[in-house]
Amino acid sequence: MSKIQNISGFMGKMQPSATLSITSKAKELKAAGRDICSMSAGEPDFDTPQAIKDACIKALEEGKIGYTPASGLPELRQAVADKFMKENNIKTSMAQCVVAPGAKFSVFTAVATLCGPGDEVILLSPYWVSYPEMVTATGAKIVVIETKAENNFEVTEEQLAAAVTENTKLLILNSPSNPCGSIYSLETLQMIAKSAIDNDYMVLSDEIYEKLVFDEKYPHISIASLSDEINERTITVNGLSKAYSMTGWRLGYLTAPLWLAKRIIAFQSHTTSNATTFAQYGALEALKGSVDDEVEAMRQAFAERSKLIYELVNDIDGLSAVKPTGAFYLFIDVSSFGLNDEEFADRLLEEYEVAAIPGAPFGAPGFIRLSYACDEATIRKAVQRLAACCDSLR
Ligand code: PMP
Ligand code: GLU
Repeated sequence: MSKIQNISGFMGKMQPSATLSITSKAKELKAAGRDICSMSAGEPDFDTPQAIKDACIKALEEGKIGYTPASGLPELRQAVADKFMKENNIKTSMAQCVVAPGAKFSVFTAVATLCGPGDEVILLSPYWVSYPEMVTATGAKIVVIETKAENNFEVTEEQLAAAVTENTKLLILNSPSNPCGSIYSLETLQMIAKSAIDNDYMVLSDEIYEKLVFDEKYPHISIASLSDEINERTITVNGLSKAYSMTGWRLGYLTAPLWLAKRIIAFQSHTTSNATTFAQYGALEALKGSVDDEVEAMRQAFAERSKLIYELVNDIDGLSAVKPTGAFYLFIDVSSFGLNDEEFADRLLEEYEVAAIPGAPFGAPGFIRLSYACDEATIRKAVQRLAACCDSLR
């Protein structure tokens, strides 16, 4: 091999995203005429609310086609700050809020500006596929804590105490969780906050699924709202993709302590510059609250689908899943069938035409993830096929 292909940096070591590659494969098979039930895509199946589209179209027609500041339109940053203060009870200011092309990039800018070789980053498995790759890209070391279904996939105090060292720089938290569909309790968030303060590390709280919650007993709580001390150590990430069905618009945002927000803005100013200008006007309309009824209707649809898929899947012998309380994923233990999760997902796709994501890329071998961001008929058909696949393995 020529030396030009010898990748010496950390960035080039990233592996492709399993969620995106399996979703594209399912789309290709569908385009080739196969009757695939696509349960792999982490994106809502609804259209973006019309008022958001109209605001974007108006901006384009008014010629809003130039650059904005790298940190985002000032009025959108202000709307983001207002949202965090009003909805999440997080003390922040416009100067601390940064708009980016997608929450994925917001997570990355925070990890990249904060971490490097010598640092340790705690991930709570099952975690979203992109976190370990992003950490690896900075040269920091990944420390994984395996959370358990019987603990509602929440980290325990003992587990956290055993994982923290003097090199711990960051812990990444995602509630409501992709892929578990679970929500962290106030008690666990308080425990994590205390650990971060006592041991001097930061927390990145990815709250992209915050609006998709299904049970009043499990409300979404922002860890940064718990006290000023934890707020000074927390980056809260959110975005428009899931709540407003705007995945392709590529719009995310974060709030961070001012010293870090400044570094993140500097990083964006040399990498992406601003998120697409006219798309930002759509986000401004969304955050103004004019489409809140539509957001609520989508939440209700997800809540109904969640109940349906959970009941149907748990009726199948040999499968078990924790009841989802948020997001739009069902994370299913398939380990009783004697295949590993990748073999199971391959068989399910190739022979039963259901696209699912295996658990291994989420750090949870033995599981598969089904996304129920699809209509009820597709959910029923996919679960029937899943049952047939399980029958064939008994
Ligand atoms: N965080 C989590 C946990 C996600 O599932 C996603 C989904 N893509 C993102 C962040 C990023 O979302 P986006 O880049 O579309 O805003
Ligand atoms: N986050 C979604 C998922 O987990 C979308 C794909 C991605 O960005 O990874 O499927």
